[in-house]
Amino acid sequence: MAFHRLDENDMRALESIVSPERISAGESNLHLHSMDQTHHKGYLPEAVLWPGSTDEVSAILRLANQRRIPVTPWGAGTSLEGNCCPVAGGIVLDFQEMSRILAIRAEDFQVDVEPGVTYKDMNRTLARSGLFFPPDPGANATIGGMIANNASGIRTIKYGATRDNVLRLTAVLADGRIIRAGSRSPKSSSGYDLARLIIGSEGTLAVVTEATLRLRGIPEGFSAAVATFDSVRRAAEAVYGIMAYGLTPSALEILDDRALRYINREREDPLPEKTTLLIEFTGNNEAGLAEDLGRAREVCEENGCESFRQGVGRDERNRLWETRHRFGECFIRSHPGLDVLIMDAAVPLSRFPDLVERAVDIADEHGLESCVSAHAGDGNLHLNVAGDMSDPAFFHSLTRAYDEIVTFAVSLGGTATGEHGIGIGKRKFMQLEHGEGMEVMRGIKRHLDPNGILNPGKVLPEEVEGSGDIP
Ligand SMILES: Cc1cc2nc3c(=O)[nH]c(=O)nc-3n(C[C@H](O)[C@H](O)[C@H](O)COP(=O)(O)OP(=O)(O)OC[C@H]3O[C@@H](n4cnc5c(N)ncnc54)[C@H](O)[C@@H]3O)c2cc1C
Repeated sequence: MAFHRLDENDMRALESIVSPERISAGESNLHLHSMDQTHHKGYLPEAVLWPGSTDEVSAILRLANQRRIPVTPWGAGTSLEGNCCPVAGGIVLDFQEMSRILAIRAEDFQVDVEPGVTYKDMNRTLARSGLFFPPDPGANATIGGMIANNASGIRTIKYGATRDNVLRLTAVLADGRIIRAGSRSPKSSSGYDLARLIIGSEGTLAVVTEATLRLRGIPEGFSAAVATFDSVRRAAEAVYGIMAYGLTPSALEILDDRALRYINREREDPLPEKTTLLIEFTGNNEAGLAEDLGRAREVCEENGCESFRQGVGRDERNRLWETRHRFGECFIRSHPGLDVLIMDAAVPLSRFPDLVERAVDIADEHGLESCVSAHAGDGNLHLNVAGDMSDPAFFHSLTRAYDEIVTFAVSLGGTATGEHGIGIGKRKFMQLEHGEGMEVMRGIKRHLDPNGILNPGKVLPEEVEGSGDIP
């Protein structure tokens, strides 16, 4: 696919669509929009645009499609697989100027937002109405980025991922057409589900300019516990036991002993450096919450937990979740100057103990120092590794370990990515995971974006012509 490099005529045409302060080809802006938050190398775009409306996005895409200029949407740039890196140069569309909460319809548990609002800012506003949007990734992502990556987090076990909590989208297609997908009804059997097709497509099929999200009431009560285990396998088996019992926790997260060491470097009140299972139930019935926690305790003890501390108060519980939330950032901070890889794979729950145990072994066999932070209740493993990618020995070990772990997860009936998306880094596993389905995906891409301008070089394994490498 040959792309056109932006020339002066293109810049003038773009300047007639957005006001001059919302377009930049300045070096620092190009660098700020060249890479996400991991090891993937940077690619310079040729211009950054901050659109202010759906109509502006439509006009930009119409022009870009006619001129065959790549367009990469950009939220907060917190992706972990190179999802927002503009590998073929062209235009980056940054949604910072489209970050309004358009309407809160508390009576229907819904909110209409623009894509640039961050979920933390949005949830702070919604809390005044006693409501929240449950998917909560560990970084302060935008709603547009969460929709595009189908992000999830510690509450997904109870409330689902982003895809389960979006009702309706306004999206702009590659040729500038504006579509509305989904409806405000809580359910629908009407036609092909275009909203769900766009969600998780990483900006490769359409650009989202507005979304109606499903909200939940903030639960009043909770019961929480911290259990420790002598191995990550036992902790994972306890997770399976809790779910198999039919309990419905609001969070079930594993951090292994090595992860706790990083966490303790930043905590005033250190936690035991043991593999730890964080358990929480939420609801409004105190007796029911206590009963559920009691059952979880039985399951943990049957699986050999070394300690089970319940009766965690509100302040401590908030601190624990804050710690869990910030673990990714803490791991990155702990390795200044090094590249960080947060591996992401997910399997059916019954196979989660096998995945987590084997993944740690594989990393050890390749001489990699790793630690586990897992959304265990979703069968979703993160194995965190840091090192210098320009060191050929490290790069070789990491690549082999990564390939073995993801291939193992897929062989268990799982997926190459539970929540971070395919981006650049996971494209090589697409054929393995989707087989014949890949041709259908290619057909969808060809139909919606025949010139391949939308976020080229992502999701599908095909190579694209790269024009914007950082020297
Ligand atoms: C420390 C850390 C912890 C993390 N923890 C989690 C976690 O627990 N769970 C999780 O799911 N993720 C996690 N992530 C990954 C990341 O935060 C999520 O993938 C998030 O959804 C990215 O959002 P963003 O706004 O930063 O989007 P970006 O990174 O800017 O973009 C993500 C993708 O969305 C596309 N995009 C952005 N806006 C639009 C739009 N309006 N229309 C169409 N496409 C668009 C981009 O092109 C790109 O493909 C973590 C990241 C970090 C750094």
